[in-house]
Amino acid sequence: MERHVEKYAKIKGTFFPAYFRCILCGLEIFGGELCPRCLAEVEFNDGHTCPVCGRKTAKSEICMDCKDRPPLFTKAASPIVYGDGGTKLISRFKLGNPWLAEYLAGKMAPLAAKLPAADLIVCVPAARGALKKRGYDQSALLAERISAECGVPFSKDAVIKTKKTRPQKGLSKRERLKNLQGSFKADRELVKGKKVLLIDDVMTTGATLDSVTEALKKAGAGEVYALTAASVRYKAP
Ligand SMILES: [Zn+2]
Ligand SMILES: [Zn+2]
Repeated sequence: MERHVEKYAKIKGTFFPAYFRCILCGLEIFGGELCPRCLAEVEFNDGHTCPVCGRKTAKSEICMDCKDRPPLFTKAASPIVYGDGGTKLISRFKLGNPWLAEYLAGKMAPLAAKLPAADLIVCVPAARGALKKRGYDQSALLAERISAECGVPFSKDAVIKTKKTRPQKGLSKRERLKNLQGSFKADRELVKGKKVLLIDDVMTTGATLDSVTEALKKAGAGEVYALTAASVRYKAP
């Protein structure tokens, strides 16, 4: 794990030695990862959650979304709530701070251990354009570390994106699913008969995770579990 940190420190030159500065605002801290102010802004997903999609809920019951249209993945989990500080953290991770994978994967790995055991780790493939612009694949960085932590092999090429899709922002789950339809493809040789842990950075409606799960199952995968760094709070209709 340390080796990765050094590597990114050399590339980006923005690395704060683990962690003498708040990972979000850069303020000098003495121990911990976040300064008290940022810590108060980041909400962790440690209370009531939907037992299927893992999003934060008011009660630990299956949310209406999962009831109305059960996802194709068996179960999902995420350590951080996407909102306020959680959103800032993910944005920072995606905008030139790949070293944050260390922190986020560190929060995700214990949840991986709580999901059913998987034989293979895969990640949601990044759009080519975004990858080129960013210079790194944020979901793959998380998957690499979780793989190292859990001892489950990670295959970066198991799922590929086969067509360009328009941005998902502002679309409903139904529209997102339609937008993504047939845009992922999984490698049968790599996934057939495997229980798969699918990694991504954020879960909002779960449409992306569902579309990748569909591709995995089409290629013969068994159950699919999803683990993201953050997920939105479930809002009851
Ligand atoms: Zn801070
Ligand atoms: Zn749910």
